[in-house]
Amino acid sequence: MSHLTIKRKCTECNKDFIAKSSKGIYCSKKCFKKKWRLQQKQNSVVLTKEKPIITKEYLQNKHYLSVKESVIFFEISENILRRKIKENRLNYICLKKRFLFLKSDLIKIL
Ligand SMILES: [Zn+2]
Repeated sequence: MSHLTIKRKCTECNKDFIAKSSKGIYCSKKCFKKKWRLQQKQNSVVLTKEKPIITKEYLQNKHYLSVKESVIFFEISENILRRKIKENRLNYICLKKRFLFLKSDLIKIL
């Protein structure tokens, strides 16, 4: 019977420690969590960077447009859009608290 003891240097705090398994690279859960949090932070930064930019070309093939997309595609103000809705001149679908318009409907009234 032999216990597996591997002497390692913690990749987080550089302290020598005895790893319980060949995979252990941190001296403690504290260091593991520290590193994990840092990675999570870095991941979220990358995600916000990759936010897609909406272009007219991209909207060209869509049949339904959101308020934001309509503003970009037709180069109109959001107020005009909301006024049309109020005046019951524009049909819309409410999906997850977002307004969606049929593009052909928009073309008709604009
Ligand atoms: Zn450590």
